Amino acid sequence: MAALPPGSTIGILGGGQLGRMLAVAAAQLGYRCHIYAPPGDNVACDVGAAYTVAEYDDLAALKAFADACDVVTFEFENVPVPPLETITGLVPVYPPLKALEVAQDRAAEKNFVRALGGKTAEFALAEDESALPAAIDAVGMPCILKTIRFGYDGKGQARITARGDIAGAWERTGSQPVIAEAMVAFDAEYSVILVRGQDGEIRFWDSPRNLHVGGILATSTLPAGALVERQQQDARALAAAVASALDYVGVFTAEFFASAQGPVFNEIAPRVHNSGHWTIEGAATSQFENHIRAICGLPLGATDTVAERVEMENLIGDDGDRFEQILSDPAASLHLYGKAEARPGRKIGHVTRLYR
Ligand code: AMP
Repeated sequence: MAALPPGSTIGILGGGQLGRMLAVAAAQLGYRCHIYAPPGDNVACDVGAAYTVAEYDDLAALKAFADACDVVTFEFENVPVPPLETITGLVPVYPPLKALEVAQDRAAEKNFVRALGGKTAEFALAEDESALPAAIDAVGMPCILKTIRFGYDGKGQARITARGDIAGAWERTGSQPVIAEAMVAFDAEYSVILVRGQDGEIRFWDSPRNLHVGGILATSTLPAGALVERQQQDARALAAAVASALDYVGVFTAEFFASAQGPVFNEIAPRVHNSGHWTIEGAATSQFENHIRAICGLPLGATDTVAERVEMENLIGDDGDRFEQILSDPAASLHLYGKAEARPGRKIGHVTRLYR
């Protein structure tokens, strides 16, 4: 596809903070963004040029949206695929829907990565409650139950450490198909964040070390340390192989555990990712700008880290109340997402600190 000229309209499915930061980056390059999201606290709509509030399976609304856009992307990986298939003939959609399909099914995702030579945690499928004990036996205890679909930020997960935990675990994960996943003994968590252009060129950002608290990302830091740096090359090769196999266009993230046996793949995100927010100030080109560049067929930007040390801290729940204190730190850049309600566990912003 020839490059989409500035002034064109980029459609973004999903109305959260990722869409908001994508729209800001797109606006800087002279594009208009049209946000499409179901009713809710759609903070991306505050910064887009236009928006449609409709369900993801409203085919008439989706078609009108596609007609109004020159290219369509998504910021939310749980957008249902079948309705989206109805617009792929009307407008280019990047990344390809195959990436959404794979990422939406934890078992398919792990199998896809294994087929490309990646190592994952041992896992066993339980389609219904009666299959649960056998699945747990297959991977051993302790283990984690994860819903096959619609899990994010530690939601849809239950840890099983003793036989007594099994009863009730099916309800705790929402009475839906799950995988039982063996616990991985890891020394650190990190992510590979890459951008792949329409011509197949791939660029990587440095991998941050990610700390999760209660299943939610708390901080991403660089440098990630010797342990992560030693594994980064292997993890990059796998992430690139997955992105290429998907014929991917845009920013792609793969999360890994750093184990004594090398990188253990955890999951992919077919989109810009929370562990890449540091790139706004900490890299020559942010993940948001490079995603826009990739889907518009523009040259990709340099991904070099521009500081000696970078730390991104998520602001969760009422953490945003500290905004004045954060702003008084000369190393800090504050991003608040404009959410109406700061519920516990909800990401309401982030702060990135650069040390040179
Ligand atoms: P996920 O939604 O799969 O990214 O899981 C959220 C977080 O839970 C991860 O980032 C880890 O900190 C932890 N976790 C998930 N799966 C495992 C596992 N198999 N072994 C150990 N910790 C895990």
